[in-house]
Amino acid sequence: GPRMIAAEQAPEDSGEQSLRPLALTEFIGQAKLRENLGVFIEAAKARGEALDHVLFYGPPGLGKTTLSQIVARELGVGFRATSGPVIARAGDLAALLTNLQPRDVLFIDEIHRLSPAVEEILYPAMEDFHLDLIIGEGPAARSVRIDLPRFTLVGATTRLGMITTPLRERFGIPQRLNFYTHAELELIVRRGARVLGLDLADSGALEIARRARGTPRVAGRLLRRVRDFAAVAKAGRVDAKLADQALNRLEVDQLGLDAMDRRYLTCIAENYDGGPVGVETMAAALSEQRDTIEDAIEPYLIQQGLLQRTPRGRMLTLNGYKHLGLTPSSNAAQ
Ligand code: ADP
Repeated sequence: GPRMIAAEQAPEDSGEQSLRPLALTEFIGQAKLRENLGVFIEAAKARGEALDHVLFYGPPGLGKTTLSQIVARELGVGFRATSGPVIARAGDLAALLTNLQPRDVLFIDEIHRLSPAVEEILYPAMEDFHLDLIIGEGPAARSVRIDLPRFTLVGATTRLGMITTPLRERFGIPQRLNFYTHAELELIVRRGARVLGLDLADSGALEIARRARGTPRVAGRLLRRVRDFAAVAKAGRVDAKLADQALNRLEVDQLGLDAMDRRYLTCIAENYDGGPVGVETMAAALSEQRDTIEDAIEPYLIQQGLLQRTPRGRMLTLNGYKHLGLTPSSNAAQ
């Protein structure tokens, strides 16, 4: 089944819309990014110009889409959203671009998945605000130039490394999102509880925060599931004990790892003697997509110091063994 702590958006997350912060001041965490962005937005507004193109990159569920919407709102301009895999042909992108109003934000999620043909027409659009389109075919084909309004492209990706250099270089404002601290997630959980009308003790909020994988989307999902448990148990106030019981039943452990994470770590420990093991091998062993492993499993395990990425492959750390309750092999990474 789907992972309770999956950081990617799932259909059941439609409820998360109501938890989305709408202004930069409401956005919790990513302090440096928020500060910088605030300055760039203010300066662009003062000049009456479109904001430079922005690239948000980092693991799923950290707030890239939310921030993009906030950027448009703070600029007081229109917001259009699409995603890399959805833009099949150059003409699709041309249609989107020619419909923009001056200074609008065009958000492209998963921008690393744009086709080369689409990227090709995006370059002049980003740089000089015009399109070069080929009309017709064969000897009758001719090129027409269409001027575009000055707009802001906001791209989001979980994979900076998969973005071509020419595309990456056209973003004046590249911004990395990091995992959130427990304190930041606690604030996000408390805010979420207020929005949901849930009576949540601070101890309950902290318990959820600690097990949310550094990820606001996960925090929101765990909060909604804890609320379900509380409702069925007819509990009034949700405290740490109730949150802990609910999260244990969801098989989310003390560090926020779920069964999939533990399966991944256990596989390296038991089948590959702690590693190093290549990601393709792990993908085959777990019957998972390589992308899923690299985007949604490994970053948090690495951040928690349970896993190391080395040139020869993935290695379990001593902490990784300890977390599984297994005895470290002699070659465990430190
Ligand atoms: P991404 O685009 O990086 O996958 P989203 O912007 O869709 O992530 O965020 C996922 C959910 O997490 C949103 O619905 C939002 O409610 C919540 N969220 C993200 N960042 C924050 C934050 N800093 N404060 C409060 N909620 C947040």
